[in-house]
Amino acid sequence: MEIEIFLRTIFFVFGALIGSFLNVCIVRLPKSESIVFPSSHCPQCQAPIYWYDNIPLISFLALKARCRSCQKGIPLHYFVVELLTAALFFFAYIVFGFSWVLVPAFVLIGLLVVASFVDLEWRIIPDEVSVGGMWVGFLLSMLIPALHKGPASEVLIVGSMVAFILGGTCMGLHLLKLFRFKIPVDGEDKKILLLGTAFLLLQWSLMTLAGVIPSCATSFAALADALQGAVIGACSLWVTGLIGEVLITKRVVTEFDFKGMVDDPLALMKALHGAGYVDAQGSLQSALRDVKTAAGLKLEPVFEDKRQEIFAMLQDVDQGGVMGWGDVKFLAMAGAFLGWQLALVAFFIAPFIGAVFGLIKVLRRQDTAIAYGPFLAVGIVASLFWGDMIIRWVMGMYGY
Ligand SMILES: [Zn+2]
Repeated sequence: MEIEIFLRTIFFVFGALIGSFLNVCIVRLPKSESIVFPSSHCPQCQAPIYWYDNIPLISFLALKARCRSCQKGIPLHYFVVELLTAALFFFAYIVFGFSWVLVPAFVLIGLLVVASFVDLEWRIIPDEVSVGGMWVGFLLSMLIPALHKGPASEVLIVGSMVAFILGGTCMGLHLLKLFRFKIPVDGEDKKILLLGTAFLLLQWSLMTLAGVIPSCATSFAALADALQGAVIGACSLWVTGLIGEVLITKRVVTEFDFKGMVDDPLALMKALHGAGYVDAQGSLQSALRDVKTAAGLKLEPVFEDKRQEIFAMLQDVDQGGVMGWGDVKFLAMAGAFLGWQLALVAFFIAPFIGAVFGLIKVLRRQDTAIAYGPFLAVGIVASLFWGDMIIRWVMGMYGY
């Protein structure tokens, strides 16, 4: 019993320490700064932060959320991220026990926390987290196949079929969209179509190989499940976005979008046009899709304090107000860790959580445009912890 309490404490403290590092990623990743160098400093007065003021959870409380040298407030997210990561690590240990599966579970939790908090602030999920995280997910699936619980061959066959149908539908609709709105095929389109096809062929080959080379069967099966998870996770979101995009016409930004946001919407439109973010017709230039360019959006001083609102507005229009690549890539990453069944569970949970928050916002008469990443993240965590239970429960309802 004592050892159990000891281990739980260890994982909580470990989570708080990792949370402290995640805070650095959350602040620096969108600005394209190194996450290793320089060492921690106060963003307001640049004073270095010494180790005794950098103890997770404790320092924030001891300093009463103020910087020791300049007394300016430390944002609450520093504390929230540390506490949240600690709690999730603690809980992951309770669910999975002392096993290798904890490694990918911790990595996934870290990625989800960073993505959620960056998305809340910037309305964007950095590729380092989504695409980079996806490759890590594939690697960990091979190394720790227990993560995918040795998927039965029937599960993989069904997954393969769903992946081909859903993937094919998405690629077809995407090409239809490009054709219909006469959008030129850009580098991102080519990358996604190529990767999607490669993943589909690879998961199919791995299923075949697993039967031929029995010694690698578990790793191959786990990787096949991870690839199916990435394709099905991404395409479940992508297809909902595409249906919206094919049905509605392409939106452009107009000065009316900025009415009420700044004193002089026309001047803002001119500034955005001058900076190359929108063309004369109000179509967004692809520069905005790049995280780094967007975070460094050059604006005249008069618009500076509205930077995040303006950026969020442009993002909404760029995504046709429906679904962005960021969320699609994010769920692909989660699928690489969870496999195709749990990726689908996460996809179905997220809108419920989003709907609840949306309703609260509407009731409070707040701005209803909200980042979807954090809801997806909650769905992914719920699926990681309780997904198998949910699948059994749903199957039970249908008498399986
Ligand atoms: Zn300071």
